Amino acid sequence: MEKIRVLVSGCCGRMGQEVVKMVLKDVQLQLVGAVDQGQIGKDIGEVVGADATGILVEGSLTEAIANRRPQVMVDFTTPAAVMDNIRTAIGAGVHVVVGTTGISQNDLEEIRKLCETHRANALIAPNFAVGALLMMRFAAMAAKYFSQVEIIELHHDRKLDAPSGTSIKTAEMILAARGEAAERCVGEEKIKGVRGGEMNGVHLHSVRLPGLIAHQEVIFGGEGQILTIRHDSLSRESFMPGVALAVKKIMGRPGLTYGLEHFLFE
Ligand code: NAP
Repeated sequence: MEKIRVLVSGCCGRMGQEVVKMVLKDVQLQLVGAVDQGQIGKDIGEVVGADATGILVEGSLTEAIANRRPQVMVDFTTPAAVMDNIRTAIGAGVHVVVGTTGISQNDLEEIRKLCETHRANALIAPNFAVGALLMMRFAAMAAKYFSQVEIIELHHDRKLDAPSGTSIKTAEMILAARGEAAERCVGEEKIKGVRGGEMNGVHLHSVRLPGLIAHQEVIFGGEGQILTIRHDSLSRESFMPGVALAVKKIMGRPGLTYGLEHFLFE
């Protein structure tokens, strides 16, 4: 069986390096390109602490795609960079697996159209950890039975955006399962923002601290009872089985898919 040709965008970042290591180890995948803004010209194997690969970090995604001919681009870059990378890759007919957060509803619409025009497929996944997807699913199951809910997401202090894509997706799933807004509770905020952000009655709180990786608690409150659903990603390796699965399935999934759960549970 031919290996899938993979390019990693953001290859020198924390997530990108894990993806590179995963691709190098997976017998069904072949690393053909590595793009980042820093460490240009270095062997990506050495960047990730593995043996030299002969694949050098490149700065231009357009040139890397033209020269390396990947079938799939995996992107873990920044909210500011990701849409341009998606436009470039899909525009060149390359399927994309994207973990970078900060993609809006309008962006998703644009990606959907790009996929149709260029006949390339896209998976946009706010979270690649299987346990986190189950946490979201369990939260959606519980949503009908509790009128009030708060989401606390906790991440490392270098995360660029808040709230996390996972917490937004969780709130969306809870609201979709309820079919109406969550019940709001009254109370004055003595410090602005102390009750967190709010999506139709679902409160979201973002904690940023060194030492954390990616964690989320969904706390449902009802008469005389509390249900807490919690997931912890203890290392970035936790995301890699999900990324590998996505890279292997993306070519058979036409158009835009939003959320890895569609690859896992359907
Ligand atoms: P990071 O360590 O800052 O890595 C981002 C990398 O992308 C950096 O090396 C950065 O280079 C590079 N970069 C920036 N702009 C670029 C461009 N235009 N082209 C190519 N590379 C570019 O961040 P991270 O912790 O790996 O996280 C990356 C993203 O993944 C974030 O949005 C994060 O929230 C998300 N994430 C998603 C999941 C999930 O399961 N979906 C899990 C964890 C993280 P410079 O440093 O030189 O700018």
